[in-house]
Amino acid sequence: MGTTVWNGMLGLLLPRGCAGCDMPDEVLCPECRALFRKHVTLPLGGSPTGTVTGTGAETIAGTGAAPSTATSTTTHPVAITAGGAYQGRVRRAILSWKDHGDTECDRAFAQICRELAREAVAGGTAKLGMASNGVTCIVAPAPILVIPAPSSPQSMRARGRRHLWPLAKAIASELAYGGAQSCAVNALGISRVHGKAVETNNASGRAARLKERLEVADPGLIAGKSVLILDDIVTTGTTMRRCAEAIRGAGGQVIGGIALAAVPPPDEL
Ligand SMILES: [Zn+2]
Repeated sequence: MGTTVWNGMLGLLLPRGCAGCDMPDEVLCPECRALFRKHVTLPLGGSPTGTVTGTGAETIAGTGAAPSTATSTTTHPVAITAGGAYQGRVRRAILSWKDHGDTECDRAFAQICRELAREAVAGGTAKLGMASNGVTCIVAPAPILVIPAPSSPQSMRARGRRHLWPLAKAIASELAYGGAQSCAVNALGISRVHGKAVETNNASGRAARLKERLEVADPGLIAGKSVLILDDIVTTGTTMRRCAEAIRGAGGQVIGGIALAAVPPPDEL
């Protein structure tokens, strides 16, 4: 029986507590939710991806108007926007969702990602503009793809699903709501390991392994698009940088990264 089904059945039998703090009858209580709103911004690396110039009127389909305040030229470094610091209740909630089948958190985390998406886009090369009809719109240099960092086939088997997928879809729908052309796509994959797997638990070992095995499923899909990369936890940022390299290699323009949480530097603990 799959973990998801089993947990669904347990949920019918047992009352649940907040994934972060066990508060009764909450999936993620307001206090824990607030910990994901202390947004942290980290550099994603790579050179600034250029400028947004002109009205970009073709990118605000749905608003029916050209953005009157979106005509300035801006240059921004590419950044990762994370919800909160990966510690305490934030850490507990993410692990419960990610590794212990608490799929009920999907909805709360999707909402958190929607908020992060707006901030990531506002701080990046795409930007928020105001259409002349007063609707806030997103002006992107190209259609925005939301691409989750890939999980290994082993992790996906263990979880029984792609856990980032509901969040990626929520981000794309939020951007579409803001007027950008956007969709989520599983464009990155990790190929099967052949031969003897080497156990590496440290971050650099994991990153080295990931680089070897990271694959762009459909480079033609990425070429010429703006890309937001999504991951659950950012530790050193290496995984997301590898994803960014692969996407740039396929001709995509990385405009930012989104993560639920980031490991804070030691001096901020
Ligand atoms: Zn809580």
